[in-house]
Amino acid sequence: MATSDLKADYTLKQIQITPSASATQNACKLCAPLGASLVFKGIRGAVPLLHGSQGCSTYIRRYLISHYKEPVDIACSNFGEQTAVFGGGVNLKLALENICRQYDPALIGVATTCLSETIGDDVPMFIKQYLATQPEESVPPIVHASTPSYQGSHMDGFHRAVRATVETLARERTATEPARVNLFPGMLSPADIRHLKEMTAAFGLTAMVLPDYSQTLDGGLWESYQRIPGGGTPVEEIAKAGDAAASVELGHTLARAGEGAATLLEQRFGVRAARLGFPMGIRATDAWLQVLADISGRPIPELFKEQRGRLLDTLVDGHKHVNTVRAALYGEEDLVAGLACFLTEIGIHPVVCASGGQSRQLTKTLQALVPAAWHEEMTVLEAADFAAIETAVATARPDLIIGHSKGYAMARRLDIPLVRVGFPIHDRMGGSRLLHVGYEGAMALFDRIANALIEQRQDGSEVGYTYM
Ligand code: SF4
Repeated sequence: MATSDLKADYTLKQIQITPSASATQNACKLCAPLGASLVFKGIRGAVPLLHGSQGCSTYIRRYLISHYKEPVDIACSNFGEQTAVFGGGVNLKLALENICRQYDPALIGVATTCLSETIGDDVPMFIKQYLATQPEESVPPIVHASTPSYQGSHMDGFHRAVRATVETLARERTATEPARVNLFPGMLSPADIRHLKEMTAAFGLTAMVLPDYSQTLDGGLWESYQRIPGGGTPVEEIAKAGDAAASVELGHTLARAGEGAATLLEQRFGVRAARLGFPMGIRATDAWLQVLADISGRPIPELFKEQRGRLLDTLVDGHKHVNTVRAALYGEEDLVAGLACFLTEIGIHPVVCASGGQSRQLTKTLQALVPAAWHEEMTVLEAADFAAIETAVATARPDLIIGHSKGYAMARRLDIPLVRVGFPIHDRMGGSRLLHVGYEGAMALFDRIANALIEQRQDGSEVGYTYM
């Protein structure tokens, strides 16, 4: 859609900033195979394999380890100069052989890097050739996700890997199990995934969560090194995805694009699909719980009514600190949409909403979530880098910035407090334990936002008040 079309449709102050520079300056997105690797880390016994050069897998490992503070093995087909010229078929087959021998994995997830995509490696054919040379029982399922980073972000890689996994593993529907549900949570924290599982279980539902890295990337202390950490969704459970009573897919922009795994299961097996945004804040959590109630046929458990009550009480107690505050948000599109929805509930105006994502759904999504009276002061940036975001934030001068660690330098230069959410969190502890979803997540987020604002006022006061 052209920018002019968007301007005609919507009343937002500014829909999109086309970068003025010829190259991206500090991207507000990460590489596509990173998102795919994260998905494969959420499958029990799986090993991610990057088809490309070692630098790509090292960068991704470093990023994941720094955020999750866990060991992350990602294999690589180790491209060199010759591979770049003659193709990577031999390397990929050797890598698959080595992984099977050394890890005995339950699944291998192959994600392609920019180089292998650029030279046009036919990865499905390589995998087929490899499988033809192996005894069937000796090779685990191999999932291939095409993830050229120059055509998308880590979120595109993430969603493609989820869809490719379901496409490869889901077998024919044998029966409908009324208490089985497929949950595609999107890129949330391990703490979020754990909380979503608890909420689903409270309705008596058995959830196949894809991906589930709540343990593999946030596990306990080991007594000895484990090549593949415990946890993750079993391959056999993914195979039964077609038997589920329903699928629930979280993420506004994905739902609008209609390209997710839930859509695939709906089209292939008739599994009904519910699509909604991240359950962040009151309205979105209400909607999520209602979906679970509808699927299970059970009323919303008392436990959640109590949590909701505590959240409302918290918001009443702290509204004086946040009401009419102006905030800039950036990060993955679905997280920005979820945050914007929550902020509007607590009286914070999202004046800059930015993402490096390119789904072209963010503006429409925000237009539906944010009250129309606030559109005039809201700048939305899609496919943006931090140069563009900083320009918009410097112009809007918000009271607060909410986003991940990559925006720290901007927040520091502009002297605006930064509340860290999402991924990556490289400069603080606890990135894996950040809770964003449910009433509990909203409460935790509210406390952090209110406290950041109180701290700034307290630090800036000449008096040094101890009551705020
Ligand atoms: S070259 Fe492409 S795949 Fe490799 S790290 Fe860079 S963006 Fe990611």
